[in-house]
Amino acid sequence: MYQFRYHRPATLEEAVGLYQSAEDGIYLAGGQTLLPTMKQRLAAPSDVIDLSAVDGLTGIDVNSGEVRVGAFTLHDEVARHEGIRRSLPVLAFLAAQIGDGQVRNRGTLGGSVANSDPAADYPAAVIGLGATVNTNARQIPADEYFQDLFETALEPGEIITRIDFQVPTRAAYRKFPNPASRYAVVGVLVADFDGTIRVGITGAGPCAFRGTALEVALQADLDPAAIEAVEVPDAGFNNDLHASAEYRAHLVKIMAKRAIADLLS
Ligand SMILES: Cc1cc2nc3c(=O)[nH]c(=O)nc-3n(C[C@H](O)[C@H](O)[C@H](O)COP(=O)(O)OP(=O)(O)OC[C@H]3O[C@@H](n4cnc5c(N)ncnc54)[C@H](O)[C@@H]3O)c2cc1C
Repeated sequence: MYQFRYHRPATLEEAVGLYQSAEDGIYLAGGQTLLPTMKQRLAAPSDVIDLSAVDGLTGIDVNSGEVRVGAFTLHDEVARHEGIRRSLPVLAFLAAQIGDGQVRNRGTLGGSVANSDPAADYPAAVIGLGATVNTNARQIPADEYFQDLFETALEPGEIITRIDFQVPTRAAYRKFPNPASRYAVVGVLVADFDGTIRVGITGAGPCAFRGTALEVALQADLDPAAIEAVEVPDAGFNNDLHASAEYRAHLVKIMAKRAIADLLS
């Protein structure tokens, strides 16, 4: 690793101020992505600003229509939280599928959504559950948040503070995990909001997106067979050593069918 200055601010204002005054600052949450990147010398920030002591980034609030999760909430906390398991079981299930025990005990919701790895699980939930990404400056609707490969609507220095997930009538998530890392080769979350269907897809493209053609078919008939005739073009899909674009397009339908079957059971 290169040398860097380490900071541990106590407030959002302090954190943003440190970022703005740094030559090349970066926020640190669970470090599960950032630290390996720094160790491999793929990133060499001048200042690392640790968010772990910042006030207002933790806490889980479960209401009838919405589940609000602080950005610094660990994946394991989401997976085990009684209120989430009761009101939004799909989110607890999804969090429990992330990586391994070590990753779930260090990695955070905000870190995952800020990083926007194309194979990360949470982005499928942000899209599929029509979430709102709250930052120190504004509220960003899910459909505007993910923009491209590791690119989001966040401005430099903007901090995710909380994510508000809408509670659907029922929902299910299925992923085809990479056997080594458990990252999603493809993951699909299907949510039924009283007859309005949302489909969030991760792993397939450069960033998470809505499966609008699948939504239209499922809106008419919420059944795995309803998407049989839907075409999932592989144009622009990820094509790497883990899977071809064509295979990922195939997986989108398979994972969607499995999620729909779970949702109906
Ligand atoms: C072996 C391994 C397996 C994994 N498997 C999976 C998997 O199956 N599924 C999956 O989804 N993920 C997986 N991950 C990634 C894991 O979920 C990480 O926790 C996540 O990518 C980053 O979260 P973090 O809290 O560690 O963030 P960090 O690594 O600390 O930060 C990541 C980036 O986000 C920025 N950031 C952090 N918090 C904020 C914030 N609140 N506001 C703005 N910017 C912020 C940082 O500046 C940095 O650029 C895996 C990781 C490892 C090492």
